[in-house]
Amino acid sequence: MERMERFPPLFLERMRRFLGDEYPLFYQSLSAPPQNGLRVNTLKLSAEAFARISPFTLESGIPWCPSAFLVAAEDRPGKHPFHLAGLYYLQEPSAMAVAESLAPRQGERVLDLAASPGGKTTHLASLMQGEGLLIANEIKEKRLGQLVMNVERWGAPNVIVTNESPERLVSHFGDTFDRVLLDAPCSGEGMFRKDPQAPSYWSEAMIEGCAARQIVLLRLAARLVRPGGWLLYSTCTFAPEENEGVIAQFLEEHPHFTLLPLPRVEGAMGGRPDWLPRPPSASIAAALEGALRLFPHRLPAEGHFLCLLQRKDAPSSAHIPVATPAAALSSLQRRLWQEFAAQVFSPSSRLNESSPLFVWGERLYFSPFPLPPLEGLRHVNRGLWVGSFKKNRFEPSHALALFLRPQEVQQVMDFPAQSAEIAAYLRGEPLPSAGSDGWVLVCVEGWPLGWGKRVQGILKNHYPRHWLRTL
Ligand code: SAM
Repeated sequence: MERMERFPPLFLERMRRFLGDEYPLFYQSLSAPPQNGLRVNTLKLSAEAFARISPFTLESGIPWCPSAFLVAAEDRPGKHPFHLAGLYYLQEPSAMAVAESLAPRQGERVLDLAASPGGKTTHLASLMQGEGLLIANEIKEKRLGQLVMNVERWGAPNVIVTNESPERLVSHFGDTFDRVLLDAPCSGEGMFRKDPQAPSYWSEAMIEGCAARQIVLLRLAARLVRPGGWLLYSTCTFAPEENEGVIAQFLEEHPHFTLLPLPRVEGAMGGRPDWLPRPPSASIAAALEGALRLFPHRLPAEGHFLCLLQRKDAPSSAHIPVATPAAALSSLQRRLWQEFAAQVFSPSSRLNESSPLFVWGERLYFSPFPLPPLEGLRHVNRGLWVGSFKKNRFEPSHALALFLRPQEVQQVMDFPAQSAEIAAYLRGEPLPSAGSDGWVLVCVEGWPLGWGKRVQGILKNHYPRHWLRTL
């Protein structure tokens, strides 16, 4: 009962009003523990391959996300070295419906407008299989670090992380994206079980404030979608004002957008325009039934709202973005890179001495797509950060370690997950290591974790300081 006292009475009253006969089941579900999902990084391995090596009990699949499983929190998958090797992302199951619904295709230009900490970005990156361009934007500078870390861990070469306001992205890119995701900041009612603090911030005034901000963000997001392109709006709240209310207002103002019905998920509800204080027009109300509501009393999930929109009109502006020129390496940089590549990579590496690389400041980058216009935008990376030039040497990045496969490098040290060596490596300690001097890829059961540099039998630890962990 103590658990239930956390929930604001007004929130419960509203849910009783909305859910009617279903309310007792919903109320009961609030006192159950939250559901934990594990989504496999299909850039590295398939869900089936992960199931074969999983150190955790995988309780069941998640019907709306073929690459994911329900896991028991007691198994503590966040603490396992496979997590640091980017084999999976831990995500509440209903959040996994979002990227699946936007369904980006390989080679497209995709924008995740509100991306940190990167749950949906990593999912979109997996679905795109490293092809096309994915821009992951986060407006709040203090939330950038987590996003960058998750993107690097994922090993996706085609993600650019920006730190901009939606307004500036609109004036910079115009309506050029095939798919845009707005995973909007919201009152977070679907996070109440997971985050014990969340209910204490809740109020009806907060819902009103969120809805006012969401419609502004959705209008901006729409201006980034190309004609024929898709826009997915999602929240992790049940409040209809922030869901059907925002979409209804948007559709009234934007007749050139239509709602695309999302594929039904067994147990999910359609949109509920009838829960709004002021019902929309009959045609908008009918369309809203094609949205998706996931509830914790109906599914193994915390709660999400999703709605897919398509832009139907012809282009309104002749906005042709100019690509960022890729700055060539100096002759010293080219020599340092070639020496590094010759010493480190094996013949099967996807990177080699003649890969199309470019520099940005001191950093070396690889981009599998033509760079979009970036000058004048606050951004953190330009594709895969390969490494940095420091005086007369080249140092590989952690992002490169997580992009590579062990067979792509000449020198590997591989240890069992539970070994003392892995624990020491993740604490930032040096390791004894026989072999020739040079860069070594440290792996856990065949999955790269980071770099070490061997000098006279000692592996100097190059695991990034800010990633250090005690398992
Ligand atoms: N998509 C993320 C994921 O799956 O990991 C979660 C995103 S969270 C629901 C909403 C994000 O919107 C937050 O990172 C927040 O910083 C950002 N945000 C807040 N106000 C914003 C604004 N005015 N414009 C753009 N983004 C905003």
